[in-house]
Amino acid sequence: MPKTPVKKSAPRRASARELVFGDLWEFDPAPETADPKLKKRYDLFIGGEFVAPKSGKYFPTISPGNEAKLADIALAGAADVDAAFQSAQKAFDGAWGKMAGSERGKYIYRIARLLQDRAREFAVAETMDGGKPIKESRDFDVPMAAAHFFYHAGWADKLDCLAPGRRVAPHGVVGQVIPWNFPLLMLAWKIAPALAAGNTVVLKPAETTSTTALKFGEILQEAGLPPGVVNIVAGAGETGAAVMTHPLAAKVAFTGSTEVGKIIMRSLAGTDKKMTMELGGKAANIIFDDAPLDQAVEGIVNGIFFNQGHVCCAGSRLLVQESVAATVLAKLKRRIAVLRVGDPLDKNTDLGAINSREQLDRITALVQSGVDEGAEMFQHACKLPAKGFYFRPTVFSGVTQSHRIAREEIFGPVLSVLTFRTVEEAIEKANNTAFGLSAGVWTDKGSRILKMSTELKAGVVWANTFNKFDPASPFGGYKESGFGREGGRQGLLDYCKLI
Ligand code: NAP
Ligand code: MG
Repeated sequence: MPKTPVKKSAPRRASARELVFGDLWEFDPAPETADPKLKKRYDLFIGGEFVAPKSGKYFPTISPGNEAKLADIALAGAADVDAAFQSAQKAFDGAWGKMAGSERGKYIYRIARLLQDRAREFAVAETMDGGKPIKESRDFDVPMAAAHFFYHAGWADKLDCLAPGRRVAPHGVVGQVIPWNFPLLMLAWKIAPALAAGNTVVLKPAETTSTTALKFGEILQEAGLPPGVVNIVAGAGETGAAVMTHPLAAKVAFTGSTEVGKIIMRSLAGTDKKMTMELGGKAANIIFDDAPLDQAVEGIVNGIFFNQGHVCCAGSRLLVQESVAATVLAKLKRRIAVLRVGDPLDKNTDLGAINSREQLDRITALVQSGVDEGAEMFQHACKLPAKGFYFRPTVFSGVTQSHRIAREEIFGPVLSVLTFRTVEEAIEKANNTAFGLSAGVWTDKGSRILKMSTELKAGVVWANTFNKFDPASPFGGYKESGFGREGGRQGLLDYCKLI
């Protein structure tokens, strides 16, 4: 019998419900293809040269997006850290310490320009090493890092205007330790003001994200920065402790967890080292019933899912006025359902990889505590890549202030939703935390914004926006979120002594 031709059915059209909640609209992969120009091995950057560690030890750095090894990184021991400090002290006592601000500014400006020239290469390296989506490292991390160098280049010859009526001087050698969530940007936040003020630097990046910091050494060489002005030593916590406690460090600047910040403060008690600490956070993002809700939902998503929630100032607690809570939650779930989670190098990706397996385990354990303590969980239903460290965007409703997910920093894409009825209750709940780094307020009323920003105990309060940064704007915390500021005149003052 002749075969009846099988009529191919037309591609099924998605129902409206699927368009909202489904995993439709699959885009073709759009991987970023720029060459990150990674070396197989990175040595320490000391005295203007790349040098092998005295112990001869190296550790691997992997890509959290697919667990592939990227490079071997030199492990700095106490002798390497000491060599870095000796070289920084020599540079401070030598040409750099005597150089006019206008000359220092030229070097900083050159660094900014070179970073711009190699922006795409650094963005890809950052994404491969740290797991963040390429659109973030390309559009935020690298341009903001360059912006910090530009901003501080402008200050270098204007230090007399920093503290009217007073003269300022650099501290000397500064020891700096940074975390893994914004590796190059945190480096820029630390190095740019230190150089503008005339200090020299020994910096340690986080163990899982040392690549762009060591690549940055190449930029310093290209800029012709005098040897020893900036030294970069890689390693884990022990290396960090050696940097923070070195006798030649006149000032130390730390960004990381409150737990490690406290260890450092204890170890430095009784010394005359100047300190700044940028520590953890548990920001409240507060939505009033008169807020533009669709815009607020974008702000919530940006506040907590930006960089997989690996953000100290992430809006991890959503405080929403009871009368609009159901509407906001419904809109939020619809928005989350269309976020793209996956390959960090794909230009369409909204959420990339979690930085490390340890961090993934920490997030998973805290989310489990939310479930165990009775909060209601909503998770994005997307498929996750088979290899690499990924976590679904997660929202908990029915959260109370005593839940661990409302108190502890999760540092992942997890939002805890609480409700309030009055302005006073919102302020009371927002301030009911050990931290005080940032907060967000969404309302149509200017007077309410002013009241909230006065009464919220947070270093930054965003109004009708979230996670906005500018090098001219100081950033830092209250309470267990630390002390000192980074950015702006206030941040620069922390790198100077008044005389
Ligand atoms: P972390 O564990 O405190 O590590 C931060 C840095 O300190 C890393 O380079 C780490 O080295 C090093 N370190 C570890 N133990 C040390 C010790 N005993 N002495 C000196 N250094 C030591 O923090 P993280 O988990 O990497 O980063 C996440 C935390 O940073 C979050 O709590 C977040 O809120 C905070 N953060 C705050 C800000 C801010 O501006 N306030 C900005 C970004 C992040 P290894 O990792 O290599 O072991
Ligand atoms: Mg890595």
